[in-house]
Amino acid sequence: MEERINNDAAVVLLSGGQDSTTCLFWAKERFATVTAITFDYGQTHRAETEVARAMAERAGAGWRLVNAPFIGSVGSSSLTDSSIKMDEERPEGAFPNTFVPGRNLFFLGIAAVTARELGMNHIVTGVSQTDYSGYPDCRDSFIKSMNVTLNEAMDYQFVIDTPLMWLDKEATWALADRLGVFDLVRSETLTCYNGIKGDGCGHCPACKLRREGLEAYLKHRNR
Ligand code: ZN
Repeated sequence: MEERINNDAAVVLLSGGQDSTTCLFWAKERFATVTAITFDYGQTHRAETEVARAMAERAGAGWRLVNAPFIGSVGSSSLTDSSIKMDEERPEGAFPNTFVPGRNLFFLGIAAVTARELGMNHIVTGVSQTDYSGYPDCRDSFIKSMNVTLNEAMDYQFVIDTPLMWLDKEATWALADRLGVFDLVRSETLTCYNGIKGDGCGHCPACKLRREGLEAYLKHRNR
């Protein structure tokens, strides 16, 4: 079993947003074989999956779409239920309602099974503790714990890579630039909670975070 694992291959969780697209190109630089995996989890903006497919194609990576609508239906979130008004700010002492309970738990579980089927052991995800929006499943402690759990669950040596864990949004833009995909990430990815590509709607929490990082990066870059 162990000897057929390809250590030079990775599955990348790809939503089509800034972070996961940057991770896709990061993985392409590091691994000989890359397969992106995108989830239809009942998100209101399904356009995300089309963007993800296009980004995988641009990167020359394989692409798989996994239908997992139960993720959005067992828990409630403003990203999967259009009748819930989205929190624009993080409420004091609580998660914003853009939190999709269990999302990264399910995503990583499914990605690990996929990686094992493909004989790959790296799993790349764009989670970040620095700008984590209050989502507990983006923190380093969760990822490390999940990595141990997955290895125990399948008796397999998965390695979860989190290249953005300690980067803020400005540093994430700098990474995209170093990878030669700054313009692509800026104009073609979809981070906006209102489903608008590129610079987005400008006022949702995801757009605000992305724009503040971009402005900070451009200020330093043009100096
Ligand atoms: Zn937006």
